[in-house]
Amino acid sequence: MLTSSKPIKILVVDDETDIREGCVRVLRRLDCEVSTAANGKEALELMEKEEFSIVLLDLKMPGMDGMDVLREIQKRGWPLLVIVITGFATVETAIEAMKQGAYDFIPKPFDPAQLRIVVERAMDNVRLKREAERLEIERSRTLEDLDTEKSRISAIVESLPIGVAVTEKTGKVVMMNPSFRSLVGLDQDAKTGNDISTYIQDEELCKAVKMVSSGQQVNGEDTFTCELNIGGERYLLARGRPVMGEGGERLGAVVTLGDITSIKILDQMKSDFVAKVSHELRSPLSTIHEQLGAVLHDMAEEGSGDDEDQYILARAKEKTRGLIALIGDLLDLSRIESGAVTHNIQPVSLDELLGSIVDFLRPRAESKRQSLTLELKGDSFPKIEADPMALESIFGNLVANAINYTGNGGSIVVAAEVDNGCWKVAVRDNGFGIDPRHHEKIFEKFYRVKDDNTRLITGTGLGLPIVKSLVDRMGGKIELESEPGKGSTFTVTLPLAPED
Ligand code: ADP
Repeated sequence: MLTSSKPIKILVVDDETDIREGCVRVLRRLDCEVSTAANGKEALELMEKEEFSIVLLDLKMPGMDGMDVLREIQKRGWPLLVIVITGFATVETAIEAMKQGAYDFIPKPFDPAQLRIVVERAMDNVRLKREAERLEIERSRTLEDLDTEKSRISAIVESLPIGVAVTEKTGKVVMMNPSFRSLVGLDQDAKTGNDISTYIQDEELCKAVKMVSSGQQVNGEDTFTCELNIGGERYLLARGRPVMGEGGERLGAVVTLGDITSIKILDQMKSDFVAKVSHELRSPLSTIHEQLGAVLHDMAEEGSGDDEDQYILARAKEKTRGLIALIGDLLDLSRIESGAVTHNIQPVSLDELLGSIVDFLRPRAESKRQSLTLELKGDSFPKIEADPMALESIFGNLVANAINYTGNGGSIVVAAEVDNGCWKVAVRDNGFGIDPRHHEKIFEKFYRVKDDNTRLITGTGLGLPIVKSLVDRMGGKIELESEPGKGSTFTVTLPLAPED
């Protein structure tokens, strides 16, 4: 049986004291609170003050009789159950009372068991009603909570400073917040419901959004990041992530847009500054380097200066050489970042260019007793549309690194082939190798692996960032496979013709 913590209050209304007291004795043993009234008026006064659930009402009373009380209860709309107490002579009246809305009746004389049965039935009814009310309140509260939660989330999304749009599997836009509309230059009242390409002009971004929405991967990933020039000097960064259903199925995608114009401007200012400072430093440093070389040469010729002087000057010359290399790399990087290095696009025989790089660097490899070979696979070598300086920089850096980070007597192979409309060039060495935890980091500016093998090798930490920026600009990719102690393979894939 369902229970409710609030006790059930029962009012016994009868002009006969014996009946009232008898009822109280029987009912007290039930789980309820019992009050009594000797006439209709007193009963109504009590009902005004207290909330009763059940009223045992004698129909035949002097003055205001039971029917009058019942009518008054109906009139006031009190939600209580009335059990009328009737004498044999008034069974008809009892039926009439039931018609008037009484819940049940009990004929006089009744014994305690009969009274208990009738009242317990009414009490069960009260409890059921209370439970139903409680459930209804709970249900409406849950709906209310859900409603506030929903509106809270939608208010947050609406006021986000970044643009947010949600697409269905087909690429149809089902939601856009105000920031998204203003970032892509739409009116604030622009309606959703159309394909993403209706709202964004950038073809590449639309393609990526559709792929992620429908469950395809973009460049081997479930997510994408892409920069967007929206005219003039304004840039946006778009990111796409899949939206999954509860069963892990793809429902669509969520796309965020952020304005990165200020970051771009800062980046440009930084590159300009680095380029300017590097440029200013290069000439005096080269002069110092040459003059140190001349002094060292004279000392050797004349036999002047002691060994320590010569050692100090040689160290200074070596350090200036390192600085000049660093400046050269910094200038290269800033030229690449400004796009200057990939401008001079022309058909290039990559096979020949690789041949000349290998020939140029062979003496360096031989000085470490390393073998350096070029393997060309296949029999047709189509030309690649690219800037030859950029290609030289990419493969010159990779082969030089392979020589630097491979011990004496090692072997380096440059294997090239044309595969699927792309040149695929692998620079393979059996040198020191690179621990997987450095694999991503070595493409960051100035990152160098410091261990017993590399401790004495000088470098700038800018070679691989230069390579990566160039490969990215040419629409290609660079991959690394490497294991410490076994060697490394850097594989560059470049399309035969650049994308528009
Ligand atoms: P640098 O060679 O001037 O230090 P790079 O950017 O070219 O700078 O390379 C970054 C780091 O990556 C190097 O310091 C080296 O530790 C590691 N590295 C690059 N190429 C190889 C390779 N072929 N084998 C092992 N380690 C390498």
